[in-house]
Amino acid sequence: MSHSNISIFVPHKGCPNDCSFCNQRAISGQTVPATPKDVENAVKIAIEYNVNPKNTEIAFFGGSFTAIERDYMLSLLTAAKHFLDTYKFKGVRISTRPDCVNEDILLTLKNYGVTAIELGAQSMCDDVLIANRRGHTADDVRNASKLIKEYGFELGLQMMTGLYKSDFTKDEYTACEIIKLKPDTVRIYPTVVLKNTHLGDLQNKGEYIAPNAEASAPFCAKLLKLFEENNIKVIKLGLHSSETVESDMIGGAYHPAFRELCEGHIYLEKILEKIRSKDKNREYVIFVNKKVLSKAKGQQKRNEKALKNQGFRCIIKGKENLEEFEVEVADLI
Ligand code: SF4
Repeated sequence: MSHSNISIFVPHKGCPNDCSFCNQRAISGQTVPATPKDVENAVKIAIEYNVNPKNTEIAFFGGSFTAIERDYMLSLLTAAKHFLDTYKFKGVRISTRPDCVNEDILLTLKNYGVTAIELGAQSMCDDVLIANRRGHTADDVRNASKLIKEYGFELGLQMMTGLYKSDFTKDEYTACEIIKLKPDTVRIYPTVVLKNTHLGDLQNKGEYIAPNAEASAPFCAKLLKLFEENNIKVIKLGLHSSETVESDMIGGAYHPAFRELCEGHIYLEKILEKIRSKDKNREYVIFVNKKVLSKAKGQQKRNEKALKNQGFRCIIKGKENLEEFEVEVADLI
């Protein structure tokens, strides 16, 4: 049964600072803060579209939910709780900053039916957090994560790659530190440089270049594997595609199907592991689960082309009953 969210964006409300990369208007495509009426409308539309409440959460994204003005936060939670009780939705999901979580807030969230809390960790390197004006430390992430788990919430952690003053070694360290916190879910966002942000200014002054999608995809594929090997579900890889992000981006790693790009890299690596030692004078059939055939071939058949460039003559075919990322190689008869 697939999970779904009724997403309500609370853009930039309650943020004590301006993070280097953040332009919530572009990310959420919304400038006006959500109201209880918006919660009601979003839920009603979802019900009209027959979402299954049992696997659907009412989700408040963007901004720093637990830092918004208390009465406003409670008005949104009250609206959500009404529908939670009426339709028996799975729960309420919120995202917030690691320094805006304490026992009092967690008790309030519990009372209003919040079940999952996502923290924007972004980096576990304090120098990167400072350079990107996050206004919290890596220890804030550790402490908040511990508290969230102690109070029985599902924990989600969000990280970014390619931030100002970071590199892939530091980003891999961040992933390893996040794994130690045992979150239930992770979101990985390669940095996208947006107009009207500090990163945008740094880029314009020639002081920063964020890795692009081509450069970020193999690295994010490595992180995806790392989290999955540690039984942590990666629920998002890459910024969601939107017209506002596309019109406001001026650099970095935006691709409308970034996850697929990363998964394509994993398939190529798996295929090469199996085929590398084989005789290049023969032809081969590579089998993958038929549901993932296009991912295994790679976008614009880039994996097939890469194999050809390495001297392998093979075709990639779909087959029943193979696991995700399972690859079989047979001689072409
Ligand atoms: S805490 Fe989140 S919403 Fe606030 S400025 Fe930073 S990234 Fe944007």
